[in-house]
Amino acid sequence: MTNNNMYFIANWKMYGDLKSINSIINVIKLSKKLKYKKTKIIYCPPYTLLDQFVQKTRKTKIYIGAQNCHANKDYGAFTGSINPKMIKSIGSKFVIVGHSENRNSGDTNKIINMKIKSCLNENLKIIFCIGETLKQRKNKRTNQVLNDQIKKGLKDIKKINNIIFAYEPVWSIGTGIIPKLDDLENQIKKIKFFVKKTYKLKKSIVLYGGSVNSKNILSLRKITSLNGFLIGGASQNSKKFIDIIKKTIN
Ligand code: PEP
Repeated sequence: MTNNNMYFIANWKMYGDLKSINSIINVIKLSKKLKYKKTKIIYCPPYTLLDQFVQKTRKTKIYIGAQNCHANKDYGAFTGSINPKMIKSIGSKFVIVGHSENRNSGDTNKIINMKIKSCLNENLKIIFCIGETLKQRKNKRTNQVLNDQIKKGLKDIKKINNIIFAYEPVWSIGTGIIPKLDDLENQIKKIKFFVKKTYKLKKSIVLYGGSVNSKNILSLRKITSLNGFLIGGASQNSKKFIDIIKKTIN
């Protein structure tokens, strides 16, 4: 099986300094060799490195995204915050919104909706994270929670072509635990069906995120309904990241 139309999104979280930028050189080399034009590699470094990443990946096939943004679409007195305008101005094309680590620190569905609108206003593409907690899963509330996150996050948004969905079960992020393949495949299909039904979008892009590594990718790559992966921990090591990409697309 060849998965040549895949997204590989690296979420570096709160890691990385100026020196670590050099570690992406091998990923740039790989991206130049990729024969599949549709394979997309997107790096989401911390804000402090965004500009350097944009410079380093100029004229390559790698895209850059921010890990978060402020909900305000304009400039304002929000100390320590960065808005989508600022993100766009330095050449970043994507923004992760709704990551569970940010939901945990106060991002409600309403705030997420505002962030998405502000990003769309700047024509930025959104990596929209959704996912249930272990408790919600045990209480069989997964579908309800995911559909609610999608509906509320995308409230009053008509055009959703610029949205990439990332299904990230909270209990899987950074834990080393991944869902059973059948369960995951079903969940991805359900998300796609819900998006199709609600937004009349025939083909949505749905990624999986949560403890993806160079071992479990051999199983995860078998899920044909998936359009790629959002990778945290393993993406900070370029060898592991390259391994994941190669094992998926070859
Ligand atoms: C993430 O940060 O979105 C993520 C999936 O992290 P990890 O791969 O480390 O579980």
